[in-house]
Amino acid sequence: MSEITHPTIVDGWFREISGMWPGQAMTLKVKNVIHHEKSKYQDVLIFESTDYGTVLVLDNVIQCTERDEFSYQEMITHLAMNSHPNPKKVLVIGGGDGGVLREVIKHDCIEEAILCDIDEAVIRLSKKYLPGMAIGYQHPKVKVHVGDGFKFLDDYKNEFDVIITDSSDPEGPAESLFQKPYFELLFGALKEGGVISTQAENQWLHLPLITKLKADCKEVFPTVEYAYTTIPTYPSGQIGFMVCCKDATRDLTKPVRSFTAEEENKLCRYYNQEIHKAAFVLPTFVRNALR
Ligand code: SAM
Repeated sequence: MSEITHPTIVDGWFREISGMWPGQAMTLKVKNVIHHEKSKYQDVLIFESTDYGTVLVLDNVIQCTERDEFSYQEMITHLAMNSHPNPKKVLVIGGGDGGVLREVIKHDCIEEAILCDIDEAVIRLSKKYLPGMAIGYQHPKVKVHVGDGFKFLDDYKNEFDVIITDSSDPEGPAESLFQKPYFELLFGALKEGGVISTQAENQWLHLPLITKLKADCKEVFPTVEYAYTTIPTYPSGQIGFMVCCKDATRDLTKPVRSFTAEEENKLCRYYNQEIHKAAFVLPTFVRNALR
């Protein structure tokens, strides 16, 4: 065990204790603490777990683990990308670990993918310690901008086909990315028929927030749907996505483009065209709250 210590690691276990999920906490057994630093924006911790590979933690909250990140990265990306007929220019806000970028470039139709993350430390450390996700940075069609996504979007109008907001939680630098003005900026930065997806928390833990988020999105976008995926290391084992489109006639719950069965097996370990549809089928208590 390395000599690096961190307040979230006690008796060899990382504990994700937070007011965002009161009375519960995911714990992961730690094999070795790899890195800890306080960046300009966040506390960054990287450790090797005994059973989930390398884990990235920001401000004491699990961002991704090598073992289950593919669920989230594939779903937040392909739910949006396969809801657009021909996405050429794609923007990722957040996503500093590179995993969403890795998924975006699986679509041969893209001509340019830009990533804007506020924290250079996350990009730098992901390239060093999370190569399976950071591989997205190596692609020739990828450009990286370090800055606040909220400010970045202000400079772009009618520019992108798909914008994916892979942000951390509302507590911290991502707070502005969960509010209506941000969705108005997204709408303005999208071309006609453009699609967005955002990290939209957990239906068991954050239903009031999700309800407000959907109401705000519906004031901006004609088409808004909530979907979710299963992922062991996010609170309560799930995380959701808000998926919106500028085209009022687009049915987001059915892919307008699909990988072939052969491509699906080669490219994805979680996403497929059936689970694209299933992801939007919600439990009754959630469907009623979001209606
Ligand atoms: N998959 C994770 C989740 O669902 O919580 C998110 C992973 S990714 C590491 C989250 C990224 O959002 C971080 O790299 C963080 O630096 C970035 N971020 C937070 N606030 C931001 C902002 N205002 N503008 C751009 N990036 C931001």
